[in-house]
Amino acid sequence: MPDSQLGLQAIRDVLGADGYIDSQPDIEKYQVEWRGLWTGHCDLVAKPNSTDQVSKILAICHEFEIAVVPQGGNTGLVGGGVPNSGIVLTTERLNRIREIDPVNFTITCDAGVVLADIQSSADQVDRLFPLSLGAEGSCQIGGNLSTNAGGVQVLKYGNARDLVLGLEAVLPDGRLWDGMRGLRKDNTGYDLKHLFVGAEGTLGVITGAVLKLYPKPKQEETCIVAFESVEKCIELFTRMNAQAGDALTAYEAMNALAVEMTVKHGQGVRAPFEQQYPWYALMELTSPRQGNDLRDALERVLEAAFEDGTVLDGVIAASGAQSADFWRIREMIPECQGPEGASIKNDVSIPISKVPDFINQTRQAVEKVMPGIRFVSFGHIGDGNFHYNLTQPIGSDRDTYLAQWHDVTDPINEIVHKLNGSFSAEHGIGQLKRDELVRYRSGVEMDLMRRIKSALDPKGIMNPGKIFNL
Ligand SMILES: Cc1cc2nc3c(=O)[nH]c(=O)nc-3n(C[C@H](O)[C@H](O)[C@H](O)COP(=O)(O)OP(=O)(O)OC[C@H]3O[C@@H](n4cnc5c(N)ncnc54)[C@H](O)[C@@H]3O)c2cc1C
Repeated sequence: MPDSQLGLQAIRDVLGADGYIDSQPDIEKYQVEWRGLWTGHCDLVAKPNSTDQVSKILAICHEFEIAVVPQGGNTGLVGGGVPNSGIVLTTERLNRIREIDPVNFTITCDAGVVLADIQSSADQVDRLFPLSLGAEGSCQIGGNLSTNAGGVQVLKYGNARDLVLGLEAVLPDGRLWDGMRGLRKDNTGYDLKHLFVGAEGTLGVITGAVLKLYPKPKQEETCIVAFESVEKCIELFTRMNAQAGDALTAYEAMNALAVEMTVKHGQGVRAPFEQQYPWYALMELTSPRQGNDLRDALERVLEAAFEDGTVLDGVIAASGAQSADFWRIREMIPECQGPEGASIKNDVSIPISKVPDFINQTRQAVEKVMPGIRFVSFGHIGDGNFHYNLTQPIGSDRDTYLAQWHDVTDPINEIVHKLNGSFSAEHGIGQLKRDELVRYRSGVEMDLMRRIKSALDPKGIMNPGKIFNL
């Protein structure tokens, strides 16, 4: 058995005094999940400042069989970045924008660049980097790619996977794979970058990426509308999608309780309408063209929807500030569930046409398991992706409620499976959903995944215990 203490000392020597942390109080924040749902342990936090240092660290970890847990902004929601042993390799010092090429519509950066910094760098050259999510002020592009993050603009621009042209990754044995090509066409064998996207740090460390940029929108329209049912919410989405085409950038659904809790607990959040409605949608249309054609198109669709009763109420934002107010309602939902008690969370996707079946069937199934449970349903409904959160019944005990996590989520996952959906739409597997992966993916699929893992990481040092059970 190799002596891991020798390996740890070799890592310290590579990084120098300011390149690692090994004193317990300072390590603490790298060992815990931000909500406190998982707490782990590691011997050292490595803070490399170059791809070369990452290579050297991984070569040492390979030789001494030390587990490596890559960590970006540590905003993940499935415990993927929480270590169980070995070292955390944080990308926080790999934070350079390497190049912006407005003609090629690409930005090239280190893995540790914070998502919001990529967005603002693109903005400065009149371009858009469209990946956008609630954690964008702290999550990093390496983490976004490793989780294949989604967010609010997937409808128009796709997931993180769709936004990457080239990748640089260090393999578990320390070798560097340089695939930093900013090409839209490149059919040269297997497209290796996609192995690392969504791999949650189990196949290597992403150190850099070439990302796609888009024209910056010159028109933006945001509106919030109310419906009597989720069916009507889907009906409007279908019409909008057909008539506005790729101008429809976001279409987010929220049920009555989600909005009610946010208005009650969210600082500065105002109710969108004087009365409450069963369902709401927040939508955004954007276009790189100058003019007013989006507003006209939006008003036309909404007018027809009012007339035939699809929509009960609606407001188009009159200013950027009002648009931000609408978005605040949507973005503060998870936070505003906190004061109402414990929440059992699901991140599922279903074909959009099956969303009403999903809502109706899961409500019945879950109420049978736990009468009085409170449904906080919201999400990127334009992608069929629901954050289907369930708040504890009023007056119930928090710990007793959370102990029933699987009693509540199992029937939901069964229904999702029958509707040809996914039990993990955008947050990944981490350590939260390993059992579900085995339950819902076929033997062939699991076998292929395990073979890829053992081909790239035969010693199993990369993020052990994540995605796969040990
Ligand atoms: C308020 C809030 C809103 C969110 N909204 C969304 C949303 O809309 N859509 C969505 O998809 N997610 C969302 N998330 C989840 C989270 O922000 C994303 O998963 C994000 O992509 C994680 O990035 P990170 O840098 O924080 O990664 P981390 O949490 O640090 O790591 C996530 C996983 O990636 C691995 N990893 C990190 N960096 C690397 C690397 N360089 N190389 C290899 N592996 C690596 C880690 O080991 C871990 O398994 C949200 C989270 C919060 C807190």
